[in-house]
Amino acid sequence: MRLILLGPPGAGKGTQAKMLKEKFHIPQISTGDILRQSVKDNNELGIKASSFMDVGELVPDDVVIGLIKERIKQVDCETGFILDGFPRTIVQAEKLSETLNEMGLLIDRVVDLEVTAEEVISRLAGRSTCPDCGGMFHEESRPPKVSGICDGCGGVLAQRQDDNSETILKRLDVYQESTAPLKQFYKKQGNLKAVTARGSVEEIFSRVLEMVK
Ligand code: AMP
Repeated sequence: MRLILLGPPGAGKGTQAKMLKEKFHIPQISTGDILRQSVKDNNELGIKASSFMDVGELVPDDVVIGLIKERIKQVDCETGFILDGFPRTIVQAEKLSETLNEMGLLIDRVVDLEVTAEEVISRLAGRSTCPDCGGMFHEESRPPKVSGICDGCGGVLAQRQDDNSETILKRLDVYQESTAPLKQFYKKQGNLKAVTARGSVEEIFSRVLEMVK
């Protein structure tokens, strides 16, 4: 099963992708996570990417396309994968189709997580993540058992550097301009399914499962 999760920042793509990964035993490929790891490692990619990420801009297409092309050819992707945060532009989507075509593969389903801009702002502002295991929490909707500590691994939770109000607004603008047109792109291909991303994580997950069945 090859899936794409679409939706604005804060729609819950990462959370749903992790749940799909557990259920179907296929890797979650998050370009955001790969880029953040490179920033942490302070390698060439990280240095290049951080100047875009810090201000809520997209990292150039050729950089992320290169990453994905390499990643989906790895052996753990043979039975499928979940793309989380890629593609984010029409060019990325076209290159992805091209690469999959060359491999004789197709995307089975594109799930669009629908959420309003107001909801996104409140979700992102209250979000914290575990830098060690990637666990995600929210001060209201999913608080950790012990404040500031990851329930899963005991790591110290941190707020993402780009989850501040100025950068959140920029990321929403970028989403509207560059990423939202992908809905039309995949609608034309006939594999887009929209899911209301409101309610509990579990409620949203059951809607997602209905769409990928
Ligand atoms: P995310 O964790 O998916 O919200 O991504 C965090 C940041 O990483 C974004 O604001 C972009 O700067 C960058 N990024 C992640 N995925 C992509 C992508 N597919 N294309 C361009 N930039 C990306």
